[in-house]
Amino acid sequence: MNNITRTQAIGVIAGREDKDQAVGVPNIDSYYGEDVFSVDVMKEYLPKDVAQHLIATIEDGDPINPAIAADVAHAMKQWAIARGATHFTHWFQPLTGSTAEKHDSFLEPQGMQAIMRFSGKNLITSEPDASSFPSGGLRCTFEARGYTVWDPTSPAFIKRHPNGATLCIPTAYCAYTGEALDKKTPLLRSRQALKKAVTRLMKCFGLDEQKVTITLGAEQEYFLIDKSFFLNRPDIIQTGRTLFGASPAKHQQLEDHYFGSIKPRVLAFMTDVEKALWKLGIPAKTRHNEVAPAQFELAPLFEEVNLAVDHNMLVMEVLRQQANKHDFVCLLHEKPFSGVNGSGKHNNWSINYGNMNLLEPGSDPFQNAIFMTVLVSIMEAVDTHADLLRSTVTGAGNDHRLGANEAPPAIISIFLGDMLTAVIDELEANGSGCSCRKETMKLGVDVLPPLPKDTTDRNRTSPFAFTGNKFEFRAPGSSHSCAGPMMILNTIVADAMNGLSDKIEQFSSDVDFNDQLHELLRERIITHKRVIFNGDNYSAEWKEEAEHRGLPILSNTPSALAEFKSAKNIALLEKYGVLSAKEVESRYEVFMEEYSRKIRIEAEISLELARTVFLPAIRKEYNQALTALTHTPSDAAWVGSLKSNVGTLGACLQNLIEESNKLESDLDENNDMYQVFLQMQSVRECVDKAEKWVTDSEWPLPKYREMLFIY
Ligand code: ADP
Ligand code: MG
Repeated sequence: MNNITRTQAIGVIAGREDKDQAVGVPNIDSYYGEDVFSVDVMKEYLPKDVAQHLIATIEDGDPINPAIAADVAHAMKQWAIARGATHFTHWFQPLTGSTAEKHDSFLEPQGMQAIMRFSGKNLITSEPDASSFPSGGLRCTFEARGYTVWDPTSPAFIKRHPNGATLCIPTAYCAYTGEALDKKTPLLRSRQALKKAVTRLMKCFGLDEQKVTITLGAEQEYFLIDKSFFLNRPDIIQTGRTLFGASPAKHQQLEDHYFGSIKPRVLAFMTDVEKALWKLGIPAKTRHNEVAPAQFELAPLFEEVNLAVDHNMLVMEVLRQQANKHDFVCLLHEKPFSGVNGSGKHNNWSINYGNMNLLEPGSDPFQNAIFMTVLVSIMEAVDTHADLLRSTVTGAGNDHRLGANEAPPAIISIFLGDMLTAVIDELEANGSGCSCRKETMKLGVDVLPPLPKDTTDRNRTSPFAFTGNKFEFRAPGSSHSCAGPMMILNTIVADAMNGLSDKIEQFSSDVDFNDQLHELLRERIITHKRVIFNGDNYSAEWKEEAEHRGLPILSNTPSALAEFKSAKNIALLEKYGVLSAKEVESRYEVFMEEYSRKIRIEAEISLELARTVFLPAIRKEYNQALTALTHTPSDAAWVGSLKSNVGTLGACLQNLIEESNKLESDLDENNDMYQVFLQMQSVRECVDKAEKWVTDSEWPLPKYREMLFIY
């Protein structure tokens, strides 16, 4: 496959058949969640009291009693073996951004007798060693012990493969000293902090303690290209994106792909993806074509945040696997193709208190006072910690996307919509002591006007938008884990809520509660309303305006990551026990290192392809043009045109050689990675220009118009 030409690849693709399995597909309800150690399974496999205890841990966050571990482990083993599992693994999320697993079989033979064992200890903790995962200096290799610890709040599940199955136990991963080495641990800590803060704030409103659930619905964008093209593109194989490729005449200008009818071959793939997800109890809900050609989206129904984060990791894995089965490759990179939209992962986030969605404007004055208080706390959180929020969506891939006129900009602001902004303005205008205008709103007395939930009202350019009953954080990249952004969002909102609770708890009992609350929110609105922006986030004027407002503009990974470890942000993360200063520092190291390494890899493969793949093709074209010129009588009318053709190709050669040499020396001298990145772009420009001149059949790699349109 690897040595087939572009044209042959197209032939292969033309001959592909849709792997459609629509015939005889069983009803969803017959297999939904069948590979999950769910509450129903627990009830079936566990003694009643043990099941009750475990369910209380999962649903109400009660601490787990280690004494039940043996029973749970036994039940899990029985259930998993009945489903064909031979192995178990602690499934965790190291700082690489992907998931990790190390399988052990249940087998503990006695003589020639195969005994299948899985103990309580096996369930609760494991020591996978795993010394090669990045720790940012938290571990030295000689004491590289890393531990995984069972997270009972995310159910165990079974991963199938053609020859069997593995029982996967979601776990947190930490060092011998207890420091977090993964993405889950701080997420769980932040969840705890926000739950506490919400409970406290609701108490200020006189509400009884209820269960707090933080919810996340993660929309996932991705590209599909045919495997035959993929195998012909060393840049995609090595970096996940095209490092070269001229824009085709038609790309996304006509916007005819967005929400278009889905090609049968893609639909067959999507059907298999959904089936695999539904078996895992992942509520895949929406599927559609996205704006760029060959770009698609999958959105599940929202779930509890920790579960949703785990599920999104599985969504990405299933997309890749099923793509392979359908002779596609699923590209989760934030910017696989330049000149067309990149891919994001919209994090829809909200908070439930009992049955009440705190971000759902209510129908009576009391509920609206709560809604406005929560809204203002989020406003305060995002304004105070815009830099920290921005630092969670960094990465070499997402740098291409943020601010590239297709995705939210690198400036964090909030979209509230005209009506809600008007409400905020009214609250601000209606200060106590002012001669209240009649039309202004009075908190706890008036009812909010009905807010539109219609999608047409949404501002798609905003990085952080209120969408009727939730906020949608749109800056995370398609390949990111949601854990980082969610961890920070939970923490900053917890802090802002606690700040409000501090004040509310001190309210005087002699003055009307609503009047005091009104004044408090008003003061916060005045301080933080600069973060609200309902206009076009892509416009150049916004950048100027944001600068004027003093909002942080962190346009790339190094500048944004530097903020992650500012004194203010470390103090906040330490205050809530989400990350210690040492953990922040280590994460900073890991993420910066990853950024530099990724750019270096891209630069090295750019250089190699420039010299060994593109240069020879351009040289050949040049030689042919030169030969044509030497065979042309010097008095021919077209000799001038031929000369100019030779000149163009010669200049292409010259530029490519020079720019490549410059890239090599930048790499050798270990120059600033941003410099290397820019030089890589210069090399690319030479190649992309040549692509428009070299004989089509001689162009060595699949072109954009092929990868994006032939599938
Ligand atoms: P759009 O593309 O218009 O933003 P989608 O339907 O594609 O809308 O995605 C919306 C996402 O928001 C879904 O995952 C949905 O389940 C999720 N969502 C809806 N309500 C909430 C909520 N209260 N909390 C978190 N996520 C929510
Ligand atoms: Mg959306």
